[in-house]
Amino acid sequence: MSEFDFDLFVIGAGSGGVRAARMAAATGMRVAVAEDRYMGGTCVNVGCVPKKLFVYASGYREAFEDAEAFGWEGQAGATFAWPTLRDNNAREVTRLNGIYRNLLSNAGVQVIDGRATLSGRQQVTVGDDTFSAERILVATGGWPYVPDFVGSEHVITSNEVFALEVFPRRVLVVGGGYIAVEFAGIFAGLGAETHLSYRRELFLRGFDNDVRRFVCDEMGKKQVSLHFNHVVNSIEKQEDGSLKVHGADGSVLEVDAVLYATGRRPNTNGLGLEKLGVVLHKDGTIGVDDNFRSSVTSIYALGDVTGGPELTPVALAEAMALVKHWQTGKTAEIDYNNIPTAVFCQPNIGTVGLTEEEARQAGIPVQIYKSDFRAMRHSVSGRDERTLMKLIVDKGNDKVIGAHMVGPDAGEIIQGIAVAMKAGATKTVFDQTIGIHPTAAEEFVTMR
Ligand code: FAD
Ligand code: NDP
Repeated sequence: MSEFDFDLFVIGAGSGGVRAARMAAATGMRVAVAEDRYMGGTCVNVGCVPKKLFVYASGYREAFEDAEAFGWEGQAGATFAWPTLRDNNAREVTRLNGIYRNLLSNAGVQVIDGRATLSGRQQVTVGDDTFSAERILVATGGWPYVPDFVGSEHVITSNEVFALEVFPRRVLVVGGGYIAVEFAGIFAGLGAETHLSYRRELFLRGFDNDVRRFVCDEMGKKQVSLHFNHVVNSIEKQEDGSLKVHGADGSVLEVDAVLYATGRRPNTNGLGLEKLGVVLHKDGTIGVDDNFRSSVTSIYALGDVTGGPELTPVALAEAMALVKHWQTGKTAEIDYNNIPTAVFCQPNIGTVGLTEEEARQAGIPVQIYKSDFRAMRHSVSGRDERTLMKLIVDKGNDKVIGAHMVGPDAGEIIQGIAVAMKAGATKTVFDQTIGIHPTAAEEFVTMR
């Protein structure tokens, strides 16, 4: 009989926590998971899932407009009902919450509802109950960060945006990363007057420069007003509920909602980690070794709370690698190179590997292949939307070391390219691959 209540206690039933708990239970471990907010974590409740549903919703307006050229009449001018989208999304999220809870129970994991804190190196407290565990896994994710300024109490974040009572007619999105560009596209598509404020010259820092410029042009065409080199100084609430946003440059914008998408911070505050000697990085993320072990041997951490790439598939991969490590005793196997990712702005971005700038900075002799074209659908619809595809090839060994796309379904296409790159595909292999016609994806094997 073990001296502990559980072999593993997981704090947080999000992407990483649920996967780790289920896999560990499948190996025979006695597992508990504590969750204080929502089953499935950020991704299911206020992240990937609702975001993608809202992206789908936002695409219909253009689809209705484009349909006319294909003979469908009477669609343009259709009206949008926010409560329908909001409530159907909430229903879907509730359905998923139930699925996640069942997945855990069916796997034999004990689900404990409530906020957990660490009360010892092998002890977790939830409400009035304290549990002992041989290992504790912290998978508490992150939380939106909003800088402190006059009027910051009037802004919303991605946590609130999916449940707004009323659809804002005019919106300002602040930030220049994933969430900002995705929501600018969502609001514009749903018909709001949409502004995006970013503090530097061009948003999407870290993405390939051609991609950044291309998205900037395409978003402009979709009626998103881009305010670059713009810093919000203060926000004033008017009597009618609207918001006056004062920029550092003296500009004033009047909107109905301001969405801050200025990054996320780890959920490590008040967990009791520091008291136990767990070393945190300056930004509050938990420092872990290759096996996701913190500076305290019984305490592990993974996912967003450790400050790696904040992506669901990364949290899932880490969870699987950690459980495998416990099973085999071998070092956790996870490769952070060539992680593909998509940004669901409009059009979408799909990207994997090095940007042209990163490759050049690393001193790699590169050959660049680019294609910029109007998708077949739009030669009939007449819509002025273009698609960009770009390959970065190492001239030394012919390997494709970067693939970038802006266009419909870019994420779907780049996923396959990522497999090829993982397998070490060369440009010659791309060239030898026969295309699928007529698709946009075939462009990746015909670029010369
Ligand atoms: P989380 O999923 O955040 O789970 C942490 C869980 O811990 C939460 O349920 C929380 O309530 C719980 N918790 C915290 N503290 C405690 C405590 N003390 N006691 C008990 N429970 C606690 N990624 C993608 O790959 N693709 C996307 O399209 C995508 N879109 C996104 C859109 C938005 C708007 C946001 C915000 C994120 C998006 N992400 C996306 C990122 C993705 O959601 C995260 O990377 C992922 O959820 C991280 O998983 P995690 O397990 O580390 O943490
Ligand atoms: P990001 O880190 O992607 O972007 C944050 C943005 O906010 C940057 O443009 C940053 O500017 C800006 N910023 C930071 N601090 C301030 C400030 N004080 N004032 C003004 N601007 C500021 O974070 P997000 O919030 O967009 O998303 C969090 C993470 O969630 C993403 O990084 C991503 O990993 C994940 N996610 C993934 C998605 C997907 O896979 N499709 C979708 C949504 C989120 P600067 O460039 O100057 O630093």
